[in-house]
Amino acid sequence: MPDDQGRLTPAEQQLVSDWLETKWVGEKCCPICKMDKWNAGVFVSTELNMGSTEVILGGCSVTPHIQLVCSNCGNTLIFNAVLLGIVPKAEA
Ligand SMILES: [Zn+2]
Repeated sequence: MPDDQGRLTPAEQQLVSDWLETKWVGEKCCPICKMDKWNAGVFVSTELNMGSTEVILGGCSVTPHIQLVCSNCGNTLIFNAVLLGIVPKAEA
């Protein structure tokens, strides 16, 4: 579980890298610049939901994300942190 600032532990960062290795099929080049220089973010980010409930944070429904950033052009891919197993799913 990320700390109270949302920072991933080194073990969680490794989990993200391992997960991407198993899920990302084919070339790992950026669709914008065609480089292969991705860096996993070290923080969990969120967006507010209008409907579905992934996690309740401070009374708000949010979906936690892990960002994967192209270090060449800044293009950012976003992955669901619950699906990756980084953040536990909210109890119904
Ligand atoms: Zn790029």
